[in-house]
Amino acid sequence: MPESVTMSEPVARLPTVVIAGRPNVGKSTLFNRIVGRRIAVVEDTPGITRDRLYAEADWRGRRFTVVDTGGLTTEPEVLWEQIRLQATIALQEADVVLFLVDACDGLCPADRELADELRPLKVPVLLVVNKADNPRREEYADEFYALGFGEPRPISSLHGRGVADLLDEVVDLLPTPEPVPEEPEPISLAILGRPNVGKSSLLNAILGQPRAIVSDIPGTTRDAVDTPFAWRGEPLTLVDTAGLRRPGKVQGSVEYYMALRATRAAERADICVVVIDASEGFTDGDKRVGSIAYEAKKALVWVANKWDEVEPPDGRPTKRSQAKRDFARTVQRDAPEQAFAPICFTSATRGTGIEALMDTCIEAYENYSFRITTGVLNRIIHDATFERPLTVKGRALKAYYATMTRTRPPTIAVFVNDPKLVHFSYRRYLHNRLRKEYPLEGSPLVLDFRASHQRKP
Ligand code: GDP
Ligand code: GDP
Repeated sequence: MPESVTMSEPVARLPTVVIAGRPNVGKSTLFNRIVGRRIAVVEDTPGITRDRLYAEADWRGRRFTVVDTGGLTTEPEVLWEQIRLQATIALQEADVVLFLVDACDGLCPADRELADELRPLKVPVLLVVNKADNPRREEYADEFYALGFGEPRPISSLHGRGVADLLDEVVDLLPTPEPVPEEPEPISLAILGRPNVGKSSLLNAILGQPRAIVSDIPGTTRDAVDTPFAWRGEPLTLVDTAGLRRPGKVQGSVEYYMALRATRAAERADICVVVIDASEGFTDGDKRVGSIAYEAKKALVWVANKWDEVEPPDGRPTKRSQAKRDFARTVQRDAPEQAFAPICFTSATRGTGIEALMDTCIEAYENYSFRITTGVLNRIIHDATFERPLTVKGRALKAYYATMTRTRPPTIAVFVNDPKLVHFSYRRYLHNRLRKEYPLEGSPLVLDFRASHQRKP
């Protein structure tokens, strides 16, 4: 049975502003002023002194966490040492520290002690002189220069005086929030093929691999017909697996139904795995399924399944056998448009070749997402058109500029004097030139010729 994994949401860490100061300078008053008494989270762990208080605040649209290092320590039994310990812990998390002192009391030895503790911190420490309720008291602030934290900022937490200016300064000092790593969109993979080629057997073989971890996420909005799983830790989704497991009674034309389902699955997938019953060879039906994947412009990987019937396991143990090469050549010859697609050889019932198939799929997806830099692209196009100029009825094709307009699939816009000049074989020629330098195995490559009258858009 596959193991299950639980996924947890990444939590954004807000920048942290810590209010430090000896008791009674007005830390909790300032804290409440900043958070507007909208205390979001109070750390309240039983058995631990409730002497650190956290809350979320925002100022001018910047969100941050405020920590009051002595918020609930007015109880007489709480020792100064304990407060200091808690303060030390909080300070380690700080992005900005507000070092609060008291204008009425003036400079105290405890302030100097705290100053010594704050000095080694690598984050900005703002010296804030609280209880400066009026201009006369503001003048008392000057004596705190002696602490060596630069200009003291007089405020009154009780009346709000100077707090806005202080917060302006604080948010400017906050680091830009770390971007939460976006959960990567799972790579989606569709298993396509004619009836009885072994699609559902292959599905089970993939999910039964030790490297595949099927996630069991109850209550998610994921479409129940799909199966999320991980391959070597890479999140993937198998598209329309419910349909593969329970084919059910098919109404009307099997061929029509198959094509319809394959088209829908291909449209929702990044990678199409087209399964062939190798014991029957490469048939027209397989070719049609390949075209469906190709029309959808998705990454494509061929799978020659039931390879155990072509080459019995008790046969000659040649690793890269002639039979494989011959089969690959047949597929390439009969489906030349999809020649970019690699071919894997599996036995779904025996579980062989599955690991190589999945690794090939991941590689195809990487190629499908590949970006060729504009400089390189222009060099290739320039060289190609220079070496083989195109003239149609006396008109020469001029390619001015090329750039990748998107990936998945890699799509290249080529700005030319007249797109109508680019006929099929010339298009193929440019394709091949690009593929020579960037094989991008498993990925289609889209060339989009556009008219331009300038040298550069
Ligand atoms: P903490 O121990 O540092 O958290 O200090 P508190 O916030 O509990 O405040 C201690 C005392 O100072 C309380 O009586 C507050 O009302 C008072 N206080 C706080 N800020 C101010 C202020 O700006 N001006 C005046 N006059 N008193 C203040
Ligand atoms: P689906 O219709 O494409 O989903 O095909 P199934 O997975 O139902 O397989 C059709 C038949 O082919 C079943 O009898 C499978 O046991 C058999 N089969 C599938 N994969 C293999 C394989 O790799 N080797 C052999 N010998 N038989 C296979």
